[in-house]
Amino acid sequence: MKKVFNIGDFRLCQKGVCNANMDGRDIVCVMPTGGGKSLTYQLPALLTPGCTLVISPLISLMTDQILHLKESGVEAVMLTGGTPRHLLNEIQQRLTSMASSRAHGHQGRDIKLCYVTPEKIAKSKTFMSLLRKLVEGGKLARIVIDEAHCASQMGHDFRPDYKKLSILRQFFPHVPILALSATCPPRVLQDILKILKMKPVIDGKAAPPDGTVYFSAPLYRKNLHYTVLPKPSSAKELIVTMSDYILQNHRNDSGIIYCLTRKDAESVAESIQAVSNGRIKTGVYHANVEDEQKERLHMQWREGKVQVVCATIAFGLGIDKGNVRFVLHHTVLLAISQKSLDGYYQESGRAGRDGQDADCVLYYRPQDATRQASITCSDQDGMVKLHDILRFAQDMQECRKILFARYFSESSDLSMASWTTNESDAMDRCGHCDNCTRLPANVEHKDATIEAWQILKILEAVEGSGGRLTISGLSDLARGLGGGSFETGGGGKRRKAKEKIQIDYDSVAGGKVRLSKDDMESLIVQMLVLRYLEETFSSTAYTVNVYVAPGNQALRLTRFAREDIVNGGGSRIQCSFRRHGRKVKSKKAGINGQSPNMLDLQESTTAGPSRIRKPA
Ligand code: ADP
Ligand code: MG
Repeated sequence: MKKVFNIGDFRLCQKGVCNANMDGRDIVCVMPTGGGKSLTYQLPALLTPGCTLVISPLISLMTDQILHLKESGVEAVMLTGGTPRHLLNEIQQRLTSMASSRAHGHQGRDIKLCYVTPEKIAKSKTFMSLLRKLVEGGKLARIVIDEAHCASQMGHDFRPDYKKLSILRQFFPHVPILALSATCPPRVLQDILKILKMKPVIDGKAAPPDGTVYFSAPLYRKNLHYTVLPKPSSAKELIVTMSDYILQNHRNDSGIIYCLTRKDAESVAESIQAVSNGRIKTGVYHANVEDEQKERLHMQWREGKVQVVCATIAFGLGIDKGNVRFVLHHTVLLAISQKSLDGYYQESGRAGRDGQDADCVLYYRPQDATRQASITCSDQDGMVKLHDILRFAQDMQECRKILFARYFSESSDLSMASWTTNESDAMDRCGHCDNCTRLPANVEHKDATIEAWQILKILEAVEGSGGRLTISGLSDLARGLGGGSFETGGGGKRRKAKEKIQIDYDSVAGGKVRLSKDDMESLIVQMLVLRYLEETFSSTAYTVNVYVAPGNQALRLTRFAREDIVNGGGSRIQCSFRRHGRKVKSKKAGINGQSPNMLDLQESTTAGPSRIRKPA
């Protein structure tokens, strides 16, 4: 380990996984991104005769590994659909002669590691028969399946070719399998085991001699500093905000900006470079970018010629760059286009793989919920995911680490213990996320039971008269905007004309709701999350419109409000509202020396870069 990889000590569960490999066991190893999963098969590969086959989803990832390995003098090759014919022949020749060689132990030019894409297994008969020869010659040491969650449709990176890896166990029942992943909630784990035809993992018991051994390392990474920042309403302002953030906090650091759509990624890349006067060099990555260009981008990013990659979630697997100092989310939306907070955890987790401090910033505004809702409405599960991430984004009190811990233990059925080393650790505040460092002046936690009740009553009145409202329509009407009138739907069987109806605030809800636009929208999203309201959908030929309706908890709200009014307050619905307090010196000692609160402040002040001091 020291001589070849220049690594002094094992990390996390590396030692156990290496030992189980040496014992020829089937293994599942779940370790966070950057934990060091590669070593768990590369070291055993060098210590055992024969070749270790590694299945990996991305060419860039393999290229990188091969580069590292070759630098360390390890015989490693890769085979993909794009491998030139002459190289393919040469590698196949070498593997064939390895297979037929009688010698055991180390041969000078033996291929120790052979990386392939899953479609090689799924589609290449030649390669499969070559593998068979290796197995018959006793020269296939083990099969490693990297990013094994790609096999499961329940995971967030499903790849159909991974599903076909089942033939490996079928054809080569005696070759040990090592499945690696950074993200593997129990149901995904069960699915993977089934697909790969591995024996089940028996929780809490020693695996029987031929059973699968399961290793996991805590997912929580304390070098990641999580912050949710208010997202300006105009796209242009957001670009300026992000560009300022980068220039002030990560002037020379590499980072990623995740965007919802390909178009967003392109326009964000272009405008960030423009508003920063070329000081921030950006690149674009999404599914439609040519492979060649993707490779070039990876290279330029690694070399620092591109500072920030603006990408869709297609940019993920295979980012083998340790010093990513920040990951910004342009919107809360993309995080759930896949798997809710799990997805957000994965995406933001591409930061700080080298173990050094890194920032994860989520730009959030409640109105975004509407856009996402129209995307996820077809999917029952989608709304649950949406609410999970909204709950996370709305929360201005609870530590982000605890929010993740709760999410992983409840929604993804991962145990608390897999989040941190033990359950009590999981519930300790991290002390460095935005909610742990937020200054009291920057947030107001307020009982909003009455306001919530008023909103509900106004909505019910509108529904009662045949109207319907979007989130922002409800927000405006409840605040008394637009003259306090709304339109009914019109149409219907009797072709009724649309009608404008005036709302009588006093009799419906005891008055208008006295909240600012931002506060109002926060409260409405809070009500959606708590099911006092719910989304309804109406599709036209072109779009899906999202409206709000009373939710299944609406009756409870009416009761709470009555109790509150009668009994003088019971504080049932708590809502946190962002406030711009006065500037107070920050206590946080992160890499940027600038606490999230200071960022809040900047948005309300004209503080320029010169006012931000780097820590000593
Ligand atoms: P993963 O695949 O789990 O995301 P990698 O295997 O790519 O992580 O390793 C991430 C980084 O950590 C690599 O640069 C690797 O060299 C380094 N690394 C792995 N194990 C150790 C260790 N025990 N000590 C120090 N660095 C390590
Ligand atoms: Mg890896």
